[in-house]
Amino acid sequence: MSKTIAINAGSSSLKFQLFIMPEETVIAKGLIERIGLPVANVTIEYGDDEKFKLEKPIKNHEEAVEILLEQLTALGIIKNFDEITGVGHRVVAGGETFKDSARMDTEEDIQKVEDLAEFAPLHNKPEAVGIRAFKKILPDITSVAVFDTSFHTTMPEKAYLYSVPYEYYEKYKGRRYGAHGTSHRYVADRCAKLMGKPIEELKIITCHLGNGASITAVNGGKSVDTSMGFTPLGGLTMGSRSGDIDASLVGFLMNKTGINDINDFVDILNNKSGLLGLSGVSSDMRDVQNAAKQGNHRAQVAYEIFIDRVQKYIAQYIAVMNGVDAIVFTAGIGENSVVVRHDVIEGITFFGCEIDDERNNVRHEALISSDDSKIAVYNIPTNEELMIARDVERLKK
Ligand code: ADP
Repeated sequence: MSKTIAINAGSSSLKFQLFIMPEETVIAKGLIERIGLPVANVTIEYGDDEKFKLEKPIKNHEEAVEILLEQLTALGIIKNFDEITGVGHRVVAGGETFKDSARMDTEEDIQKVEDLAEFAPLHNKPEAVGIRAFKKILPDITSVAVFDTSFHTTMPEKAYLYSVPYEYYEKYKGRRYGAHGTSHRYVADRCAKLMGKPIEELKIITCHLGNGASITAVNGGKSVDTSMGFTPLGGLTMGSRSGDIDASLVGFLMNKTGINDINDFVDILNNKSGLLGLSGVSSDMRDVQNAAKQGNHRAQVAYEIFIDRVQKYIAQYIAVMNGVDAIVFTAGIGENSVVVRHDVIEGITFFGCEIDDERNNVRHEALISSDDSKIAVYNIPTNEELMIARDVERLKK
């Protein structure tokens, strides 16, 4: 029985899930936060709702991995380190280099991940650090990097090129890469299984609506267009990200506000915009919905803009694929907000979709459209960690 650990490393955090594979059973999951700060927190959930918590200083990711493995052993979740035969790491940017998940056998492999940091400065560096940390402590196990962008490498040129001078793509690889690919891939696969049809025959629009949000057109199992752009700043209105805007607004507002550094302005677009910037209340959809209910106008408008952008992308992707068989909702907002799913579908019934309010009143995997609906609509909780563990199995030595 082999165990595989799925890792999501941030600059000061490390999230994990431990699976028995190929059974796909989760036996532990948790989080180490505040790595490198005076006191770090370790949380491990396992067994029958058992929760372990520890506070202690953790210098770096290597020490975090050591402590994690020691604790997994001390709690009896594993008997010894040898039981873990594979590790899968979530990596945000794979650029044009990684068209699929890839084994991280050598330092050169990891270096390639780090070299892509110019496309995702906040992500690829800590992710490479996480890969190295595991490599050092468990050098002989299969190590696999799973990229958020890989699923979208099937997009045609017309979807990934921006209408700017072509040499910017040729020389600098400035193009749309998309993100959340692991999630879109997982829910599209599940959708095909639920429909009982080969994915190759289906046109699916997957709506990953979380704090970060993106929509993908999946034609025949392949991503043919996606709303996030060169970075995860593009596309939909998100928790604190602006999504698509006219680029000239940037210069105009920089002049008006006296913000001179483009990086500072991009920071505003990433962290102070979206639901947060519009509502002035919060980046969290629940807070925005509650404020709107209490009559807060800006929160109401923020909510309406969120729904509007989701509807417009769905409509675009119906055009991109010249049809659609299924629409899938997933991630924090998509999986949990009955109202968001209702409001999105209610405004696009022209296409022949119809929500069934009773079926829609769920948070688990379910068909939520009516029997008369020409487009099947599903709620499908995402599971990126499972997809990562599956890729480790697939690429095992
Ligand atoms: P992340 O991108 O950080 O992984 P999540 O997928 O966890 O984000 O989604 C977080 C978002 O989901 C937040 O905006 C949160 O308000 C929203 N959310 C969670 N539960 C609900 C709910 N019941 N109704 C509306 N929004 C919800």
